[in-house]
Amino acid sequence: MAGLPFDDRDGFIWMDGEMRPWREAKTHILCHGLHYASAVFEGERLYNGKIFKSREHAARLIESGNILGMKIPLCIDEIETIKQDVIKENKLTDGYIRAFAWRGSEQMAISASVTKIHVAVAAWAWGAYFDAEKRDKGITLKTAVWHRPAPDCAPVQSKAAGLYMICTMSKHRVEAEGYDDALMLDYRGYVAEATSANFFAVKDGVLLTPTPDCFLNGITRQTVIALAGEMGVPVEERHIKPDELGGFDEIFLTGTAAEVTAVGRIDDHKYTVGPVTKKLREAYETLVRS
Ligand code: PMP
Repeated sequence: MAGLPFDDRDGFIWMDGEMRPWREAKTHILCHGLHYASAVFEGERLYNGKIFKSREHAARLIESGNILGMKIPLCIDEIETIKQDVIKENKLTDGYIRAFAWRGSEQMAISASVTKIHVAVAAWAWGAYFDAEKRDKGITLKTAVWHRPAPDCAPVQSKAAGLYMICTMSKHRVEAEGYDDALMLDYRGYVAEATSANFFAVKDGVLLTPTPDCFLNGITRQTVIALAGEMGVPVEERHIKPDELGGFDEIFLTGTAAEVTAVGRIDDHKYTVGPVTKKLREAYETLVRS
């Protein structure tokens, strides 16, 4: 359900070197980013006044730009300072940070090498991605029609705006059938991820997760793998076939927005929110607030 529109709020957004009143952070409609998806972005969460893995997100933003040939005109330290300024200006202690970059209006065709690279950082208060009731039972997923593209068909390691087109289409399609999110397979037919979160399964006490060779190796994913290691839960990274889904004991998703979200159903397979999911969710929630 839509809340307050994102272009009509109070507060401040940093854009191209200055803090602007929220409603005045604008770009022209003839800009390359809008027409050709030459845009990259980050999603980060702020907990108790601290951005979780802030530098890692700044580094990924720069790397996403580099993959697309868009040199972001800021270094990690500069991005860090801007994010802190944005949090302060908007008086936030908990919320979501969106740092992003896009090509400007100097060229309006495929070739865009002389376009200006614009950068902006916004932040707003934002609660759980999936509601609390679902948290206890686990969300429902349905296998998507769209597949994650091969590494030689798209810049799969970049958090590039264009890659989200198939996510939005997939999510709309399954939401219309009453599911919470779509499970996307990759170009080979292996289980890949949900539309904005990585995939984990538990079988006989072992944590399984797909090898991130054609989708984002999420910062939350890496954090949860490290937490599992600290807890002595064995982790296996490998290709997962859809016909294995019926044999798993627990399933959960990880992502900055989704955090650790239990899955209660995928297509016709049902799962309980089990001990490994609960333990890792608790450890993650403690870590982000520590
Ligand atoms: N995959 C996709 C497609 C995503 O959008 C996200 C969220 N950024 C993730 C995985 C998880 O990444 P992270 O844990 O770094 O937020």
